[in-house]
Amino acid sequence: MPFIRFEALKTTMHRQPIEVDPPYTRISDIFGEHVFNKKAMQEFMTPEAYKSVMDAMIHGKKIDRNIADQVAVGMKSWALSKNATHYTHWFQPLTGSTAEKHDSFFQPNGDGGGIEKFTGNLLVQQEPDASSFPNGGIRNTFEARGYTAWDPTSPAFIMGKTLCIPTVFVAYTGEALDNKAPLLRALQSIDQIATEVCQYFDKNVKKVNATLGWEQEYFLVDKALYNARPDLKMTGRTLLGHSAAKGQQLDDHYFGAIPDRVRFFMRELEYEAHRLGIPATTRHNEVAPMQYELAPMFEEANVSVDHNSLLMDLMDRVAARHNFKVLLHEKPYAGVNGSGKHNNWSLSTDTGVNLLAPGKTPKSNIQFLTFFVNTIKAVHDHADLLRAAIASAGNDHRLGANEAPPAIISVFIGEQLTRTLDAIEQLEKGKLSPEQKTDLKLNVVGKIPDVLLDNTDRNRTSPFAFTGNKFEFRAVGSASNCAQPMTIMNSIMATQLRKFKATVDGLIKGGMKKDEAIFNVLRDYISESKSIRFEGDGYGDAWVKEAEKRGLNNVKTTPEALDFYVTPEAIKLFEENGVMNKVEVEARHEIMLEEYQKKIQIESRVLGDIAGNHIVPTAINYQNRLLSNVKGLKQVLDEKSFNKVAKEQLHMIEEISSRISVIISEKEAMIETRKKCNALEGARERAVAYRNEVFPFLNTIRYECDKLELLIDDELWPMPKYRELIFS
Ligand code: ADP
Ligand code: MG
Repeated sequence: MPFIRFEALKTTMHRQPIEVDPPYTRISDIFGEHVFNKKAMQEFMTPEAYKSVMDAMIHGKKIDRNIADQVAVGMKSWALSKNATHYTHWFQPLTGSTAEKHDSFFQPNGDGGGIEKFTGNLLVQQEPDASSFPNGGIRNTFEARGYTAWDPTSPAFIMGKTLCIPTVFVAYTGEALDNKAPLLRALQSIDQIATEVCQYFDKNVKKVNATLGWEQEYFLVDKALYNARPDLKMTGRTLLGHSAAKGQQLDDHYFGAIPDRVRFFMRELEYEAHRLGIPATTRHNEVAPMQYELAPMFEEANVSVDHNSLLMDLMDRVAARHNFKVLLHEKPYAGVNGSGKHNNWSLSTDTGVNLLAPGKTPKSNIQFLTFFVNTIKAVHDHADLLRAAIASAGNDHRLGANEAPPAIISVFIGEQLTRTLDAIEQLEKGKLSPEQKTDLKLNVVGKIPDVLLDNTDRNRTSPFAFTGNKFEFRAVGSASNCAQPMTIMNSIMATQLRKFKATVDGLIKGGMKKDEAIFNVLRDYISESKSIRFEGDGYGDAWVKEAEKRGLNNVKTTPEALDFYVTPEAIKLFEENGVMNKVEVEARHEIMLEEYQKKIQIESRVLGDIAGNHIVPTAINYQNRLLSNVKGLKQVLDEKSFNKVAKEQLHMIEEISSRISVIISEKEAMIETRKKCNALEGARERAVAYRNEVFPFLNTIRYECDKLELLIDDELWPMPKYRELIFS
């Protein structure tokens, strides 16, 4: 008796929505109430400490120890006023999740009493026991421990009863062991060079921030059903399961009504997110059943990355209260639309200008074109590195599949801007004639603002699309930390802008006018980067062929994609932006390969167990039933009738036997293959071998199991089926 499945279904059927009615009328009343934001800082800190933190946030100035003590005192008073009892350094190790170690503010004084204490030292730096976090050999190599260091550019917040202080996690020798440290370095690099480029147009610009607005897609599944699926629990995705009779063919889910249970979950999630200062704004159903999305207003990239990490954590906690489990995996269900996390990216100045928004004057449009064309050129020159930035075992299932952008990196800009770039490309080299200048001003640069009005022309199949005032990097996976794609995006842009500036400066020195110099360089970039631009259907086979002709890579698997992370050019790029040195890049590469290999290894073990211990015994059980049925028929029928009546059963008995035997032999072969692969030297070799040799077993074994699911009596089937997971 498949007890767990039916218990789970019964539990799910009887679930009532858990009503929530957060105690507020206006979001503005509660927004950021759990954040040590400017308002709280002004209230709880000395003016001197406040100014120092602001200087650190805006200008990256160091905070001295004295002041750190004052900040700590203010932070503690604020946290205690919010009933926090503990504090933690909150960081993002390379495991992809967040980590924290809680310490109590309370310190006994030895007289049976005590006080709540928190000092500058504890705020600024700590040494977590982090030996279990991946480090790609860095800490072994250097025999150094890691420490966490306060990132004053991302505000502290309270989660539950704990004050969380965003920190970077680095080795004592300085190598980054987390996702945040390289991101901060990349953001500093882009700030510096983008500011210099802005000075061509506006001397008042002193700082440029990268902005990020992510759109988080996820699936919800009932907790009881989730618990009855060992594959979901252990790997985040279903390793078997025949597709439901009703899938997403009808497209009736998109923007459909959100069921009450989900609505209450979302309401509570948004409430908690708002209290934590996460500016969550929109919600609607995604393409697949039980798939949803949450997107905030965009923010400065570092804060936005932190907010996404925090949100993923929050989702889990809030979902538990509503008896849901959040699936962040890129492809939890085969044959059903996967989940992504679009990264909307732009650059914005401290004077309030979005550098990727077309302006109102020809001058501001030259600035827009500068950043726009440089972005395209950066993506063209470093497409493979961007592909590496989004590589993961989970995302491999999504890139190129139903409704996901393909693994080929290309840029969509829309018809109007294509025309603009074409016109610039036609310009003659060197100095412009007065007529050309007028034409450029009136007909090319002057026409750009119309783009904003034309929103019809949006291409949903492009992995990297211009959407009016930002680029949308859509190929990012739903489970990933945005830090990695954002680090790479901003690094390639910084490198590109540096080249641009050097070339333009050279032309100006040679006697060209600034605008002419800029147009000359942009014209070259436009023609050099043409092959990366694609306006057609990114899902079609025609594009795969066309891309190949253009020499664009179509890298389908993670181990291959990660190769681009460690090419000499990539290492040089990371180094010149101060983002990572060679040791750090190589360590990270190894960690990502190991993570990939371990994921496939776990999937393979879990599927082996399920197939062997759940599916085969169930199949035998059902086969026995058929056998006794056939025996009975034989007893009561004459031979002619028997042959006629029992034919189907006999056929089923045979089919079950042959499927069982394939499952068993494939499982054995898979185990042998794993052993062979495990013995290989080198993380890359192992990852490649797991991809090429172990991974295919997952499909063959699944295929047999899914066929059995169709044959065997529903009452005997041990695990919740797709229709139950997706439609209950
Ligand atoms: P979509 O049509 O792709 O679903 P949405 O409106 O849901 O678009 O999402 C747009 C996202 O782009 C939002 O998260 C928004 O905050 C973000 N965004 C808008 N402007 C910028 C910008 N200048 N920089 C970064 N992100 C931005
Ligand atoms: Mg989007």
